[in-house]
Amino acid sequence: MTDSTAPGGQAVELVINGIAVRAEPHMTIVEAAWAGGVPRVTGVGCLEGVCGSCRILLRRGQDVSVALACETFAEPGIEALFLPPPAAARHQYELTDFTDGWDIQARFQEIFPEAVRCRHCHGCVRSCPKGIVVEEGIALAAAGRFREAGEAFLECVMCELCDSACPEQIAPAHVGLFCRRITAFFHLRPPNLIHRLEELRQEPFSSSGDKESA
Ligand code: SF4
Ligand code: SF4
Repeated sequence: MTDSTAPGGQAVELVINGIAVRAEPHMTIVEAAWAGGVPRVTGVGCLEGVCGSCRILLRRGQDVSVALACETFAEPGIEALFLPPPAAARHQYELTDFTDGWDIQARFQEIFPEAVRCRHCHGCVRSCPKGIVVEEGIALAAAGRFREAGEAFLECVMCELCDSACPEQIAPAHVGLFCRRITAFFHLRPPNLIHRLEELRQEPFSSSGDKESA
C-alpha cells in the first residue's frame, strides 16, 4: 500500500486503479492518485489543458456511479477507476458552412440524426457530474431551440460521461457544444466584451501595461 498521509494526519484508505492508497482526508481522487504513486493516468485533462477528462467509475459498497476525480474527495473504502478519455468526435461540421440561420435545424438533423431518437431513459442526466439537464437540452436542440439548448449546457466540461451513458449514441455533449457554437456564430458577442475591445482599440496599451503615447 502506498502511504501519502502527512505525519499525524488521519489516513483515508481507498483503492485507485487497483492500487491501495492511503490519502489525506481533504484530498480529491486526483490528488490522492498523484500523492499515492498511482501511475499517471492518460486523459487527466488538467495536465493537458482540457478540463473534464478525469472521468472515474466509483464504487461505494454496492453502489456504482461515475464522477470527475478532481471534484470527488477521498473516502474510506471506496474504489475509483479512471476511465479512458473520450473517443474522437463522430459528428463533423464546419461553422463556416452555415451561410445563414434558416437552415440550421435541417443541418442539425443531418449532423445529429440520432437526436430525435431520445428514449428518455435519463441515463445522461444521471451520469452528469455538473447537474446539467442534458435530456432537456437534447429535446430543445431537436426542436430547433438552439439558444436555449446551448444555455442548458453552459456548465458542461465535455467529460462526455453522458455520451457514454446514451443507448442511442446521441452524443449529448457534442449536441450541447454545437448549440453553443452555432448560437455564438449567429449572434452578437457579449456587449461588455465588445465595449472593452473597442476601448482597447481606441486606447491601445503597450506591452508594459502603460498606455502608449500618441
Ligand atoms: S453534459 Fe455531458 S459532457 Fe457535459 S458535463 Fe454533463 S456529462 Fe459531462
Ligand atoms: S441517455 Fe440518450 S436516450 Fe437516454 S435520455 Fe439521455 S439523450 Fe435520451
